[in-house]
Amino acid sequence: MFDPEIEMLSKEKLQELQLERLKKMVKYAYNNVPMYRKRMDDAGVNPTKVANLDDFAKISFTKKDDLRDHYPYGIRAVPLVQINRLHASSGTTGKPTVVSYTENDLRTWGRLMARTYAAAGVTREDIVQNAYGYGLFTGGLGFHYGAEILGCTVIPTATGNTKRQLMMAKDMGSTVLAATPSYAMYLAEAAPKEGYDLQKDFKFKIGMFGAEPWSEEARQRIQNALGLRAHDVYGMSELYGPGVAVECIHQNGLHIWGDEFLVEVIDPDTGEVLPEGSYGEMVFTMLTREAMPLLRYRTRDLATVTWEECECDRFHPRIMRIKGRSDDMLIIGGVNVFPSQVETVLMGMEGVGDQYQIIIDRDILDKLQVKVEVDEKFFKSPDYNAAKFAKKLVDEMTAVMTIRANVELMAPGTLPRTEGKAKRVIDLRKE
Ligand SMILES: [Zn+2]
Repeated sequence: MFDPEIEMLSKEKLQELQLERLKKMVKYAYNNVPMYRKRMDDAGVNPTKVANLDDFAKISFTKKDDLRDHYPYGIRAVPLVQINRLHASSGTTGKPTVVSYTENDLRTWGRLMARTYAAAGVTREDIVQNAYGYGLFTGGLGFHYGAEILGCTVIPTATGNTKRQLMMAKDMGSTVLAATPSYAMYLAEAAPKEGYDLQKDFKFKIGMFGAEPWSEEARQRIQNALGLRAHDVYGMSELYGPGVAVECIHQNGLHIWGDEFLVEVIDPDTGEVLPEGSYGEMVFTMLTREAMPLLRYRTRDLATVTWEECECDRFHPRIMRIKGRSDDMLIIGGVNVFPSQVETVLMGMEGVGDQYQIIIDRDILDKLQVKVEVDEKFFKSPDYNAAKFAKKLVDEMTAVMTIRANVELMAPGTLPRTEGKAKRVIDLRKE
C-alpha cells in the first residue's frame, strides 16, 4: 500500500473523515465560489449548519453545463496566480471544459495516482510504459506523475507510433502498460505483425486501463493476449483525472478513494438519492480540492456502489462494473441499448475478432447494425461458414438485448483502428 494509514481506515472512520471534510468543503465552496453561494442561499442551506448527508443533499447538483458556463477558467475558488496547471477535455459544443489545479491539488492527485498504481500491485521496481496521450487530456500526466511518485521507472511513450512503442516495450522490459483498453488491444494485434512473439518478447505483468468503458470479456481478451493482469481505472478530468477509483488485485469492483471523494448514487430521472447498493447514476463531491471545488457533480455514469469490505481489507467503497454512461445509452426502436451490452456478447464469443462497430442508421428505422471482424484463425479455418456464424451472432444478441441486430461480418483487419480512444458507435441519426 502507498498510504496504509488512509487505505486501511475502517468503514466508520472513513465515513467520519468524509463527513468532517465535507462540512469544511461546503463552507469553503460557499465562501469562495459565487455559484455555490447563490445555490445554497436559494436552497436555504446554511453552510455552517450542514451536519449530515441529508442536509447536504439539499444543495442542487453540479452539471457539466456549469463547467461550460464558467469558460475559460472553470469553477474557481482561488485567484489565477494560485493555479498551477490547467487541463481540458474536448466538448461537443466547440469550447472545451477547463479544469484547474493548485499546487496542493497536483500533489493530492499525484499521491492518489501513486496509491492507485499500488492498489493494482505496482511497486517501485516496475517499469511503467505510459501510452496515454500527453497534453490537455489528463491521462498522460496523471499516469505519469503517479508512477514517478510511487518510485517506478517511467517511460513516457505516449499514444501512437506503435512500432516504436513495441520496440521500447521489448528492449526496456516494461512491466506495466498504462493505456486505453482499446490501444492495449491494438498493441496486442500489431505485435505479431511486427515480428514479435507476445508470450516471449514482453515482460508486461500489470495493465492500467481506463478512459473508456470496456467489458469483462474485453478484459479476458487483453489479459490472454498480453499475459498481464488488466486493471480498470476510473476517473474524469472534472474529478482531477484518472485515479478516482481502481480495481485492487482481487479485481472485484473499483475502490473509490473515499477520503477524497464522496459518492452518492441517484435516480437519474428524479435526482433522488438511492439507498446503498442501488443501481443508479454516480454523483461525486470532491472533499479537499482547492482550485475547483465540485459539490454533487453528476457523472452520467451508471453503476452500483457497495461499502462491503473487500478481500484486500480496504473499506473504500467499490463501484461494481460500470454498465455505461447514460449519455451513451442508445434508444433503438424504443428499446434502451448500451454499447457495453453489444461488446459483452461479441467479446464473449469464440471466433469474433477484437474489433467491432455499432452503426445506427436512421434510413432503416433506427435499426441496429453491427460490423464485426472475424478472428483471423477462425476466418482461415475450414470450419468457418459466414452465413451460419452471422446467424449465431444475431441470435445471441437478440437474446441479450431483446432487439434484433443486423450483423455484417468483416474480414480480419478491415475495420478502422485508432491509437487513442476507440470510436465504436456511429449514430447516423446525429450526423
Ligand atoms: Zn480490494
